[in-house]
Amino acid sequence: VRKWSEIPLAPPDKILGISEAYNKDANTSKINLGVGAYRDNSGKPIIFPSVKEAEKILLASEVEKEYTGITGSKKFQNAVKGFVFNNSGKDVNGQQLIEQNRIVTAQTISGTGSLRVIGDFLNRFYTNKKLLVPKPTWANHVAVFKDAGLEPEFYAYYETSKNDLDFANLKKSLSSQPDGSIVLLHACCHNPTGMDLTPEQWEEVLAIVQEKNFYPLVDMAYQGFASGNPYKDIGLIRRLNELVVQNKLKSYALCQSFAKNMGLYGERTGSISIITESAEASQAIESQLKKLIRPIYSSPPIHGSKIVEIIFDEQHNLLNSWLQDLDKVVGRLNTVRSKLYENLDKSSYNWDHLLKQRGMFVYTGLSAEQVIKLRNDYSVYATEDGRFSISGINDNNVEYLANAINEVVK
Ligand code: PMP
Repeated sequence: VRKWSEIPLAPPDKILGISEAYNKDANTSKINLGVGAYRDNSGKPIIFPSVKEAEKILLASEVEKEYTGITGSKKFQNAVKGFVFNNSGKDVNGQQLIEQNRIVTAQTISGTGSLRVIGDFLNRFYTNKKLLVPKPTWANHVAVFKDAGLEPEFYAYYETSKNDLDFANLKKSLSSQPDGSIVLLHACCHNPTGMDLTPEQWEEVLAIVQEKNFYPLVDMAYQGFASGNPYKDIGLIRRLNELVVQNKLKSYALCQSFAKNMGLYGERTGSISIITESAEASQAIESQLKKLIRPIYSSPPIHGSKIVEIIFDEQHNLLNSWLQDLDKVVGRLNTVRSKLYENLDKSSYNWDHLLKQRGMFVYTGLSAEQVIKLRNDYSVYATEDGRFSISGINDNNVEYLANAINEVVK
């Protein structure tokens, strides 16, 4: 453009725009089910007690605010590797890959930053630009990968009319894609549907991945939210590690975030890990990641990563408190999910899908019209795809919400 006045207005962010409208609403019964951030039973955000403890230790011991490395500190990287790939000693294959220096881990600016870094990295070095994402997926996936120069395309995932996974079409649409495409897989608590594959279904998908020589890119933003235990939610990672050790898969990449499972949202703490063919390949990949990150943001922030380091450092004995904090958060979400289900009128609509879904959301299957009616008539705010963030539900509003939903589906 020649004049700034020629720049067109960009549409508001779909999720954050909802919070703005919610804030303006004067109705005291209003409910915000838009943003995927945890709220307690009184509707307030929390800091995990274990995180608060780690911050106290940090405050007492920290003597400098120097830059960390371009890809974060070794201590953070090792904490992530131990947590995710060694799985506390339970994953022998992951352990072998760590020992052979076949995992390159870099701290990134939370999960979004890790997705963008791997997007840029793949665009720079990987021959195929096509990246397959499930339909539907987190809206930002498409935006991030397009901006990174990749070509996102949907594969079938969910059948809205049945409120269920569409596994037959999922397999069919993946099989019809060109060899060597990149495929994005949600590790657990698929956003927005909350519907995950069973281990048997993953086996079938991974068979297609091997046959078509796809490059698996795993996004894990909700580790711990499926079962309440982060060490149990990584069946896909463990299976991928096994396939790599068995030489059936050469490489894969994992984007991981502590935003939800440690409640470190605004601290922007996450990582990218690339599993490589050899220690030599790891060295080259790490050097290229540094070359890529340095001109973008130079190095990641340190407050959140130091909290992670402290929680995983055995001498501070905080790991179990964190696991308990997380279990409590997930427990509340599950309780509220069942309470909502109990209060819904099953005579006019089949709500059984709610009980199969896991994570921070319920994917209701309500139409955009019904969601808009909920907003206009009941001050219930959610995205028009019918995704409700269950964090916004608590003992005080679950009956009001269920009643409003019952009215709009009548
Ligand atoms: N992936 C998915 C599927 C998500 O839902 C989110 C958070 N909404 C992210 C990645 C990244 O979140 P963050 O950048 O806050 O870590």
